[in-house]
Amino acid sequence: MRRPNWEKRTYLAIGFGILAVFLLFILLSNKDGVPFLERTNEPQLVISTGSIKEGDFLSKILTSHSVPDPLINQIQKAFFKAYNKKHIISGDAYEILTSTSGLFKKFIYKERGNTRYYDVVRSSEGVFASHAYEKQTVWVEEVIRGRVAENMYKSLLSSGLNLNLVGNLMEEVGDNIFAWKIDFFTEQRLGDEFAILLERGWVVGENQPTNNIHVLAAYYKGSGTRTKENYAIRFQAQDAGKHDYFDLNGEALRKEFLRAPFTHKGFRISSRFNRNRFHPILRTYRPHHGTDYACSRGTRIVSVGNGTVVFAGWKGGYGNCIDIRHSQKFRSRYGHLSKISVKVGQKVAQGQGIGFSGSTGMSSGPHLHFEMHVDGVQRDFLRLNFSSAKSVSSKDQSDFNLVKNELLARLFPGSPHATERKEDPKSN
Ligand SMILES: [Zn+2]
Repeated sequence: MRRPNWEKRTYLAIGFGILAVFLLFILLSNKDGVPFLERTNEPQLVISTGSIKEGDFLSKILTSHSVPDPLINQIQKAFFKAYNKKHIISGDAYEILTSTSGLFKKFIYKERGNTRYYDVVRSSEGVFASHAYEKQTVWVEEVIRGRVAENMYKSLLSSGLNLNLVGNLMEEVGDNIFAWKIDFFTEQRLGDEFAILLERGWVVGENQPTNNIHVLAAYYKGSGTRTKENYAIRFQAQDAGKHDYFDLNGEALRKEFLRAPFTHKGFRISSRFNRNRFHPILRTYRPHHGTDYACSRGTRIVSVGNGTVVFAGWKGGYGNCIDIRHSQKFRSRYGHLSKISVKVGQKVAQGQGIGFSGSTGMSSGPHLHFEMHVDGVQRDFLRLNFSSAKSVSSKDQSDFNLVKNELLARLFPGSPHATERKEDPKSN
């Protein structure tokens, strides 16, 4: 009864044997014979890189990398959906990725010193699409210090820092942090000293700094500034929504203007800022780019903030007029005055008398015409929000001192007295 079983196994073994010999034969014969399937080399990408030269435009660049004409059109169309062609500027970098056989794959555009980059890809279906990406950055701390030769802006530039970074630094330090303390336009002197502790964004994996900055602390020692030594410490109080800058005593650097250019209450608003107002004298519609305060002739007019007189005299329809520069950003103007009591170049304090109201120039009766210029444009003073920052409260004082001492130690490394610096209250 075992026989049939044994026979079955034998036939199976013989069958497998034949199959194995057959496979071996195919394998061996294939060694230098006909392959099973056809396959080209591993696909590889060719990456061409370059940077934008003066007068370059996208089609020129693509042509120079032998991208065929019909594709250039499609690439441009897709790219300009994600990117404003006016922003293409010399120094920016690009990459063009093609297959080894020359097939266009991807175009990448990287703005210099910026964290954004853009690409145009061609899908397997031949559809072109563009995207914008944010590069990953980390904040790296550094200290920039120097002496003023002509002005801080030029000193920073001549130290080799790029234009955009210097622009950002001056905007932060000059127009924002110290705007109420130092007038960088009129108060900089040869030999002034500055130091800035900042964080700068570095692109991960590229070992490249960007121009994105956070100023943590700043110092300016000037011979022409109101306070000789000026400090700014970045600090955020426990319940504050955002950080602000403070001097060493914890006093907020951001100040506010007076509500009106008077120190008493004897005035009323007679005409508001209006882009289309019927002019009482010209009998026509004209914008009123200021605020009129009705007040009796000879009312004392005060400066709404600390600043420098940049104009004092007759100015056409304004009559006797004073312009005061408060910072890079803000200027105030006082018109129709009967008397001017300041001179050009004179420094004035907030609330200081500068003249008396009248009706000189194009005026229908005694009043003060007041304007606030923000970045050179007249704005509605009554609608601008000039809230000042709150100084450090007593409950936040110990936190503030901790932060202050840490930042000062990093701003002035190695200086043993760095943490014992005090601002002279008399010179403030
Ligand atoms: Zn007016």
